[in-house]
Amino acid sequence: MTSLAELCGHVAAANRALAEAGLVTLSFGNVSGISHDRGVLVIKPSGIPCGEVTPEQMVVVSLRDGITEGGLRPSSDTPTHLVLYRRLEGVGGIVHTHSPFASAWAQAGREIPCFGTTHADHFAGPVPITRPLTDAEIAGDYERETGEVIAERIGELGIEALRMPAALVRSHGPFTWGADPAEAVGNAATLEIVAAMAWRTLALDPGAPPIGGALAARHFNRKHGPGAYYGQQV
Ligand SMILES: [Zn+2]
Repeated sequence: MTSLAELCGHVAAANRALAEAGLVTLSFGNVSGISHDRGVLVIKPSGIPCGEVTPEQMVVVSLRDGITEGGLRPSSDTPTHLVLYRRLEGVGGIVHTHSPFASAWAQAGREIPCFGTTHADHFAGPVPITRPLTDAEIAGDYERETGEVIAERIGELGIEALRMPAALVRSHGPFTWGADPAEAVGNAATLEIVAAMAWRTLALDPGAPPIGGALAARHFNRKHGPGAYYGQQV
């Protein structure tokens, strides 16, 4: 079992990796990780740049009641992370950024079509976008409701969360997830590349068709699932 100190180390490293990958500016982003055994999530403290966080600064939050341990306040997006851990099966790490290409799609209110194999390798279909939050949801428990609309959208797709490890929050930006914090950061980086490629694809040809279903399935399944053969066996 991973110790709490080790998890804090992994989450701090993932936050710094997010900054090193150029996916966050200042403190506009956060990474968390979960320990189901201990019933807690570990998340970046609020307002501290991702690239500067240390394991000792990480905030431990109870999954049951959201109560925190430690001296620093957790990221203001913590209620969103809590909902996603409760609602999305198999998720062990979550990332939120305002990375510019993915956020541009979110601001345009558009899902990201799957135009090619880079996308198909990582996401089993178009990257979904949430419905707009209602005025009541915005005025109420806004960050929790943000998690609810993400989980709602993934639920509508009828797909396992780890097969579609990203969603765009409309007018806001992306959340990504993975089996652990490092995987969630990798998916945030891939999403940004895919978002940039899709934008450029439509710039070259506004009528570009999505990738064919057979090619998309071949690429996704060679990296995921029981028949996966991409990479090295571990
Ligand atoms: Zn945000």
